[in-house]
Amino acid sequence: MFESTIAGSLPKPAWLAETGKLWPRWLPEGADLAQAKLDATLLWIKQQEDAGLDLIGDGEQSRQHFVHGFLEQVEGIDFDHKVEIGIRRDRYKAMVPQVVSALRLKGRVHAAEARLLRAHSQRKIKFTLPGPMTIVDTVADKFYGDRVALAMAFAELLNAEALALRADGVDVVQFDEPAFNVYMEDAAAWGVRALERAAQGLDQPDPLTGRRCQTAVHICYGYGIQANNDWKKTLGGQWRQYEQIFPALAASRIDQVSLECIHSQVPPELMALLRGKDVMVGVIDVASDQIETAEEVADTVGRALQFVPPERLICCTNCGLAPMSRQVAQAKLRALGAGAALARQRYA
Ligand code: ZN
Repeated sequence: MFESTIAGSLPKPAWLAETGKLWPRWLPEGADLAQAKLDATLLWIKQQEDAGLDLIGDGEQSRQHFVHGFLEQVEGIDFDHKVEIGIRRDRYKAMVPQVVSALRLKGRVHAAEARLLRAHSQRKIKFTLPGPMTIVDTVADKFYGDRVALAMAFAELLNAEALALRADGVDVVQFDEPAFNVYMEDAAAWGVRALERAAQGLDQPDPLTGRRCQTAVHICYGYGIQANNDWKKTLGGQWRQYEQIFPALAASRIDQVSLECIHSQVPPELMALLRGKDVMVGVIDVASDQIETAEEVADTVGRALQFVPPERLICCTNCGLAPMSRQVAQAKLRALGAGAALARQRYA
């Protein structure tokens, strides 16, 4: 009961990349960079296990950004001529690569870090990929001319990588779809369909290993950066975006939904819309350096228990911890582990 896990990203050590940035520059180069990424992954596996987390991730140490890391292995994407676009309905500007021809995977995207994770943790492991709709919102399209067609093209590529991750021994594949919270009608109309295409077949046994994966989607209000904090101030006293998306997700084949809870204005009763799904409840705030106490975490679990059955509740962070300092992130991991343990004692 009350397993614990992180949404996905963790800060990169100062010897790997620039700190405190969403698109940090790598510091080592070539073979040194490849090794440094894996070293950082190993470091965070240890930190997550020491914090008592049940489901371990790679902390996204091998990708510069949660969307562009995947795109670097996709043929048809031009990284040499990035353009500036407004993303998430112009919430902030970003330099993004362009889609210039039909999309195809160049090869495996995350084999090295997924296999490292499997080799070095006996616990369940989770791997995150960007969701199709969020990718579409984070590139400039010069080729497909249609967001749905582009999303379905990305979904096919994501599915190929996800099935390979299943063969690598990954237990949960999670797709990150912060764009669902911005384009709610589109999410219900085609975003969930593209997501299901990306997750297709993961619940079936792998032909070689016989292993199955659980599938998850993470929907948040973004990293704790200024543009997001400013945006949240415009959303009013009740954030009801989930209300428009959750019914479509409840009807989908996706097993788990990761959502924001602590310190957010999301009415907790919206969690009840996810009947039949595992719910990853955000019990750690990523927009504040204040470290949660175990009591606060357990209190948040208690509020969620009014709407989520205990066997379906997983303790999670509201979003990734990438832009934070390592010290703060480590302390928040410990708070997450300790809070989940306290919740088990309290509510068992
Ligand atoms: Zn997030």
